[in-house]
Amino acid sequence: MKKITRSCPVCTSDQKIALPKLSHPEWNTVKCVKCQMVYLDAAPDYESLSEDLAWTKQFAKEKKRRKEKEPIVAWIDAKTRWRLHMFRDDEWAYISTRVKAGNVLDIGCGGLNNIPPQFTPFGIEIEKQAAEISDALMQERGGFVVHAPALEGLESFEDGFLDGIIMRSYLEHEAKPREVIKACYNKLKPGGAIYIKVPNFDTINRVVRGIDWCGFRFPDHLNYFGIATLKTLADNENYQFVLKNKVTRYTNDNVHCFFIKQS
Ligand SMILES: [Zn+2]
Repeated sequence: MKKITRSCPVCTSDQKIALPKLSHPEWNTVKCVKCQMVYLDAAPDYESLSEDLAWTKQFAKEKKRRKEKEPIVAWIDAKTRWRLHMFRDDEWAYISTRVKAGNVLDIGCGGLNNIPPQFTPFGIEIEKQAAEISDALMQERGGFVVHAPALEGLESFEDGFLDGIIMRSYLEHEAKPREVIKACYNKLKPGGAIYIKVPNFDTINRVVRGIDWCGFRFPDHLNYFGIATLKTLADNENYQFVLKNKVTRYTNDNVHCFFIKQS
């Protein structure tokens, strides 16, 4: 597999410290000295992502690995998943508080199309088969899906076209998150918002479980955001940062937040 070396995906610095206990034998997890961002200092190239390393396959493999390594913990995880839902709002309900209607782009949309009916759905998907499935679904509702890496796919949209952009379980995979966030700014209408859900590096669960935390997935998770590093990313690209899960900021395995383009 071809590897591409990376600088800090938030601030572009090359000053970093190694985190060997949170690394994989073939993939180094490092921390940026300047902005504290945690990330992999290499990424598979997009071609391997599109074909060999399709995320769904990778996810199934990783799930199996986890199960073999820790059968009881994996079993308990699966059986108690419902507890998390008890405290979790419906994501679309709170996305709709910021984005009322209009054109919504789901980046990394997968093969699903569960965007509520008040929106015209658009998508970008790097995995070929998933892109084809969701394109057919979105075309029925007046939208479409671009099969491409995010940065390239964003070029298919005119500036000021989008009311909302959805990044659920996507930004942790993106080799160039800063460039994507920057490109989204022009594509949004004033007052438009990006909704982001990523694994939460600040969660207590990560501290307790170390390398076995569910947020580590090598090499398809490239960026390990926490609340502070997400806010830095938003600030640097002129968005207003709004954290959704304030109360559960250290107990939720994910961060839910908005990057808002000021009107
Ligand atoms: Zn940095």
